[in-house]
Amino acid sequence: MTARKFVIFALLLVSIGLRSEGYAQSQSGSVAFVRATVLDPSSEGTIDNATVVVRHGEIVSVEIGGKAPDDAHIMDLDGRFLVPGLIDAHVHISNLSDARRALLSGVTTARSMGGSFFTDLGLRELFAHGAFTGPELLAAGYHVRPRPAEGLFLDEPGLADLLETDIRGPTMLRRVARAMLDRNVDFIKVNATERAGLPETDPRKPFFTEIELAALVDEAGSYGVPVAAHAHGDVGGRAAVMAGVKSIEHGTYLREETLRLMLEQHTYLVPTIAVVSDLTLPGGDYDNPVLQVRGKHMLTRIRETAALAHSLGVPIVAATDTGYGPESVLRMSHELIELVDIGLSELDAIRAATTVAAELLGVAGRIGRINPGFEADLLVLERSPLNDIGSYQDVLVVMSDGQVVVDRLEFRASEIMKEERVP
Ligand SMILES: [Zn+2]
Repeated sequence: MTARKFVIFALLLVSIGLRSEGYAQSQSGSVAFVRATVLDPSSEGTIDNATVVVRHGEIVSVEIGGKAPDDAHIMDLDGRFLVPGLIDAHVHISNLSDARRALLSGVTTARSMGGSFFTDLGLRELFAHGAFTGPELLAAGYHVRPRPAEGLFLDEPGLADLLETDIRGPTMLRRVARAMLDRNVDFIKVNATERAGLPETDPRKPFFTEIELAALVDEAGSYGVPVAAHAHGDVGGRAAVMAGVKSIEHGTYLREETLRLMLEQHTYLVPTIAVVSDLTLPGGDYDNPVLQVRGKHMLTRIRETAALAHSLGVPIVAATDTGYGPESVLRMSHELIELVDIGLSELDAIRAATTVAAELLGVAGRIGRINPGFEADLLVLERSPLNDIGSYQDVLVVMSDGQVVVDRLEFRASEIMKEERVP
């Protein structure tokens, strides 16, 4: 980078930093939530009248009726519910404002399931270095599919000989995977079947054989990276499960025997039900009559499949599959409502977006719980999500790595009363 370019880059970081400046921090950087009702998804029930102290981005203590440190900024929850930040396990975030939109809705961690120009890797680094307050991102780079996105060949001209051909066979798949693994992706995302969200595609159509997918899993595994397979149809989905992928994304038409295999191999299902509901409606991320017709039969099937998977014991993970763009009408709360509708308990739905999602992402040791040593990714809700999962639609506080990015507790009756009392 030239000196001039570096100055511009540094100025850019400073201006981004200023925009994302947090507030509600004491001088020591400690925050204490007092009179909180704590919901730690790894246990049953809640802890009443808890004091939760956060310092340097970490939860340092959770105590019943505990005392807040003198130097802490106090957030008095008056019995409101403190829950872990949400993990959205399937997003397509591609810029800072979309990332911010996700964060404001309560998503403090997200797994990017592919986009263009390795944007998700850039966003991951900006957020990790504190240049901008966004959700912690795990990034997959590009989708691996028989015809990869044009951008892959612009980013990786070394693959130029594959531009005009179908990616077929273990050798080609390994080459494409290596191009991304060498960029340090956190996950490989493969399309085991066609997409559902384009009018000219058939989501039942399989893309790769079990042998091809096994080569991909093996190549990624040699870098310690797991594979997530997009799959609607059963043939492609089953091949992916047999090949040893870590998760199936969507899984609309999976048959019971494939689900039983997933149970045996501990393959996660990320059903993304709410996004299929978006297919059926005008507006949102999809707005097309063919998709509205298709979405109506897919929605019935994906709900049935996810319900069966859950009843068999397959681990279920919540995700939106949205990019959180200005047109997006999808939030994690909608997927949580869908999961409760198909038969998960409220606690199991919350786990699908916290502890179970953290296992899938490989971050269960530091994200997804309210426990000392865990990252201070926290939300405040008005009502108990164990009684009303819809309470995630109205998040009052968002804390990300100890930084308060939303504080709507400020709208207090007492403030208005004080003004009224002025003679
Ligand atoms: Zn997707």
